[in-house]
Amino acid sequence: MTALLEVKNLRIAYGKIEAVKGITFTVHTGQVVTLIGTNGAGKTTTLRTLSGLHPPLAGTIHFDGRPLTGIPAHDIVARGLAHSPEGRHIFPRLTIAENLQLGAFLRKDTAGITKDTQRVYDLFPILGERRNQAAGTLSGGEQQMLAMGRALMSRPKLLMLDEPSMGLSPIMMRKIMDTIAELKATGTTILLVEQNAQAALSLADHGHVMEVGKIVLSGTGADLLHDESVRKAYLGED
Ligand code: ATP
Repeated sequence: MTALLEVKNLRIAYGKIEAVKGITFTVHTGQVVTLIGTNGAGKTTTLRTLSGLHPPLAGTIHFDGRPLTGIPAHDIVARGLAHSPEGRHIFPRLTIAENLQLGAFLRKDTAGITKDTQRVYDLFPILGERRNQAAGTLSGGEQQMLAMGRALMSRPKLLMLDEPSMGLSPIMMRKIMDTIAELKATGTTILLVEQNAQAALSLADHGHVMEVGKIVLSGTGADLLHDESVRKAYLGED
């Protein structure tokens, strides 16, 4: 089976500092794969490079059977890779509906866009109720829902989520994680970056632990969740 996303020996640098030092991993259609690890491990940098926002230093990225490196970011979206960035980056003065429309900026199928907008409102009813309000009036958790919804509006083959639980209350975090599980159940392929290792590994098919630019451990979500070193380092156990 060929992978939907195939990353090989990827290295990424900021000037002379190498933030990602040769990582290799794959994501198959229908899977949820997670990258976990502490601050500065290189997770966000990896997603930014996959999205075409920062060039790689070396290595290869194949998506849907074709090389992805050297391709402008909007073409990467057009190929089916969507990114819900860390910190959300919604447009606070635009309405919720307008923010969602921006996620569909490359699409011309009006009927499909309407259908997918409704799907986002079904997934997150609060966004539907408040569709005509400025997005800046949403709470942090609701803004996270909007960022995820906006990424879904490009109808991606692969959805990349960068720290969706960051800064959220436990209840809101649960809601976001439940939604990710729901997306998985309906066949969405997801690459999930999380610092909340417990939540991420609980729903991931595969996980990779990153430390200072390298993948130091890989396994199924369940394996990593029960791994003693992971439990000590990331799940706060003695
Ligand atoms: P976090 O959870 O804090 O986002 P992360 O695992 O996603 O952590 P990155 O944000 O990818 O880690 O950072 C990896 C390394 O690259 C860090 O040492 C960071 O300081 C450095 N770095 C990130 N962005 C830049 C930048 N724009 N310029 C220089 N160095 C950067």
